[in-house]
Amino acid sequence: MRLANVGGRATILANGGGIDVQRSSNGWFSSSPQALYEKWDAFRVFANTLNPAMATPIDEATLRSPVPAPRQVFAIGLNYRAHAEESGMEIPRIPATFTKFPASLAGPFDPVERPGNTMDWEVELVAIIGNRADRASAADAWGHIAGLAVGQDFSERTVQRAAGAQFSLGKSFRGFGPIGPCLVTPDEFTDPGNLELGCRVNGEVMQHSRTNDLIFSIPALIEQLSAVLPLLPGDVIFTGTPAGVGAARKPPRFLQVGDVVESWIEGIGTIRNNVIAPAG
Ligand code: ZN
Repeated sequence: MRLANVGGRATILANGGGIDVQRSSNGWFSSSPQALYEKWDAFRVFANTLNPAMATPIDEATLRSPVPAPRQVFAIGLNYRAHAEESGMEIPRIPATFTKFPASLAGPFDPVERPGNTMDWEVELVAIIGNRADRASAADAWGHIAGLAVGQDFSERTVQRAAGAQFSLGKSFRGFGPIGPCLVTPDEFTDPGNLELGCRVNGEVMQHSRTNDLIFSIPALIEQLSAVLPLLPGDVIFTGTPAGVGAARKPPRFLQVGDVVESWIEGIGTIRNNVIAPAG
């Protein structure tokens, strides 16, 4: 199943269009995409009963984040071997974890303000929690995942590195966490643990890798994070970025006003964010 947020309403994508969740369930399920994660298993059963022929056209420009208001957002640094190497860092033994504060999240096609001179790109696979995970095992991890989406972990490197390290702040400027274009459930993939992903800036390929290069896979992350605290329905995990970020280039390269950043993952889709000047 592919679940989208069309103009604020939960919508199942089918036949090139969409089926409105609240209307097709006669109000049994909420129009709020975030609320669906609280009843994820029941919602999956309901979604399977829908006839794809019910789909009506949707306007891509109205897509918002399929997970607009998570309670917790986890983000993992240095989780691809080649990216840890280009950053000059050791391969971590526990996941290097920070947060993107929820108010920094955005829709898949939202413009993003450039807050400073060292704004960088990081395409990432995003995992969204369906069933609460508390002390979960890696073997059971996929049962806790509602689905996968494309994320972009925009980063302001100067702030990120200030005062020792300010990862959470440097990665939480307005609009710095676009997610989309939709959530795709794990059963839709031949192997949800091995997906091609990449990032283009103005059409030029900057990052290109596969998620089977992750140091901590999604099951490993679920096990290790849920050993510390419960992962709640509708929570988000940015799983880390592959090599090719701007800060590691020689010379370094950063985003400019007018740049177009496209982030894509095999079997999910592409999100696109235009870099704009900050509002006064
Ligand atoms: Zn990142």
